[in-house]
Amino acid sequence: MTPDKYIKNYIDGALLPAASGEYFDNFNPAVGKVYSHIPDSDERDVQQALEAAERAFPEWSKTEPSTRFRILTRIADIIEQNLDDFARAESIDSGKPFAMARSVDIPRAHQNLRFFATAILHFSSESHPMQNEAINYTLRQPIGVVGCISPWNLPLYLFTWKIAPALAAGNCVIGKPSEMTPMTAYMLSKACSEAGLPAGVLNILHGHGAKVGQAIVEHPKIKAISFTGGTNTGKKIISTAGPMFKKLSLELGGKNPNIIFADCDFDEMMMTTLRSSFSNNGQICLCGSRIYVERPIYEKFKEELVKRTQFIKVGDPFSAVTDLGALVSEQHMKKVMSYISLAEVEGGTVLCGGTPVEMKGEYSEGYFLRPAVIEGLPHTCRTNQEEIFGPVVTIAPFDTEEEVIEYANSTQFGLAATVWTKDISKANRVAEKIESGIVWVNCWMVRDLRTPFGGVKSSGVGREGGLEALRFFTEQKNVCIKYS
Ligand code: NDP
Repeated sequence: MTPDKYIKNYIDGALLPAASGEYFDNFNPAVGKVYSHIPDSDERDVQQALEAAERAFPEWSKTEPSTRFRILTRIADIIEQNLDDFARAESIDSGKPFAMARSVDIPRAHQNLRFFATAILHFSSESHPMQNEAINYTLRQPIGVVGCISPWNLPLYLFTWKIAPALAAGNCVIGKPSEMTPMTAYMLSKACSEAGLPAGVLNILHGHGAKVGQAIVEHPKIKAISFTGGTNTGKKIISTAGPMFKKLSLELGGKNPNIIFADCDFDEMMMTTLRSSFSNNGQICLCGSRIYVERPIYEKFKEELVKRTQFIKVGDPFSAVTDLGALVSEQHMKKVMSYISLAEVEGGTVLCGGTPVEMKGEYSEGYFLRPAVIEGLPHTCRTNQEEIFGPVVTIAPFDTEEEVIEYANSTQFGLAATVWTKDISKANRVAEKIESGIVWVNCWMVRDLRTPFGGVKSSGVGREGGLEALRFFTEQKNVCIKYS
C-alpha cells in the first residue's frame, strides 16, 4: 500500500478531490520540503459527506454487532499486514522515527480497531426493576452522524481511537485528521474499501481545521463531536457546538507534573523519566514537562538527567540508532524555541539542548532540535504554566508533599501526572490530591484500553477509553413497562 502524491477525500466509499479543486502543500518535516498535496476541503465536502453518511446510517446502525466486529477486524488486519508501509508514511508525514511509528503508532491503530470491534460484542445496558410495578430498561442507540477530529502528534493512533468506537457503536462518521499528518488516514480510506466497509459509513475529509474542521463542528446534522487537540481549539469548538446542544468529548492540552520522591527506585525512575520527558519529541499530551524532585536527590537527578539527555540521538528518522526525529513543522519548531527564549527571560538556566541540530545532506533543512532541560524557574512562570508540546522539561526541587501538590495543581491543565515513590501510602495520598484525569505511580504510559482516559480543568471534558467511549457514542433511552 503506497502513499500517493495527491491525497483524496474519502466520501461515500470513493476517493475524491475537494469540491474546491484546490490542494495545499504537505511537508516532510525531516527534509523541510513539500512531498505531497492535501485537498483543501470546505463546507461543500462536509455536506456531501453528510448526505452519504445519512444514506448509510439506517442500514449500518441496524447491522449485527458481529458484522461490525468482522469489518473493523478486517480493517485492522489490513493495517497490520501493511505495517511497514503505514509506519513509513507516518514517519515521513510527522518526522517521528520509523522505528517508533512501527512499534507504537501503527500497532496501536490496529489494536484500537480490534479493541472496539470486540468491545461492541460485550456492550450491554442496564435494567432497573421496580418491585411488583414496572421494569425499566435502558436502550443505547447509535447517535447518527458524528464528527471525529484528531491532532498530528499520534496521527493514525488517535484517529482510530475515535472512529473505532463510533463505528462499532453503529454511527456513521465524518473524520478529519490534522492537515499536518493526513497520509495514514488517507491510506486508511483504502483499507476501509478493501475491507468491505459499506459506502458512506466512514467519510474522511482533509484540509484546514479552521475551514473544513469548523464546517464539521457547525453542521447542524452532525450530532456529536469527538475532538482531540489544543485547549484553544477546544474552546472554539465548545463555543460553536455548545449552543447547538451537540454531544461533546474534548481531549485537550496538558502540562503534566512528574513528581519524584527521594525514596523512589532511582534507576527505574531515571529510565522512565527520560521517556516521559522526550518520547516523540515531547509531542505526546501525556509527557511530563514539569519535573519536581525531592531535595535530597535533586543534584544527583539533575546531573544524571542532563547526562542522559545529551546522549539522546536526534536525526535521520530512518536510522536504527535515532531516538528522536524532526519536530512536526517549522512553525512548531519556532514555537518551541520561543519558549526556550522565554524561559531564559524568566530567569531559567538551560542546562542542555534547546538549539537546532545542524544536519547534513538530505536532512539539512529539517526541523531538528536538541532536547532541553531547564532549571531555576518558579512554578508560576509562563514556561511552567503554558503547554510547550516539545522536547523541553523544567526541573525544580521540593521539600514537602503539600508543597509539591500545590506546584502540581497550579496550572489550568489537569491531564496526567506521574508519581515516583516506594511508599504506597504516600503514593495514594498524592494521587488522590492531584487534579488530573490520570495518575501513573512508578510508571508512565502503561495503558489499559479499558480505563477511562481524559483530563480535568482545561485538559478536557468527558472521557474516552473502553465503555466510556461506547457510552459517548450512543444515546440512552429509558423504556418503562408497567405490569400488574
Ligand atoms: P489543534 O487544536 O491545532 O488541532 C487539532 C485538530 O483540530 C486538527 O485536526 C485541526 O486541523 C483541527 N482544527 C483546528 N481548528 C479547528 C476548528 N476551528 N474546528 C474544528 N477543527 C479544528 O491541535 P494540534 O493538532 O496542534 O495538536 C496538539 C494539541 O493536541 C496539544 O495541545 C496536545 O496536548 C493536544 N492533545 C491532547 C491529547 C489528549 O488526549 N488530551 C492527545 C494528543 C494531543 P488542522 O491540523 O488542519 O488545523
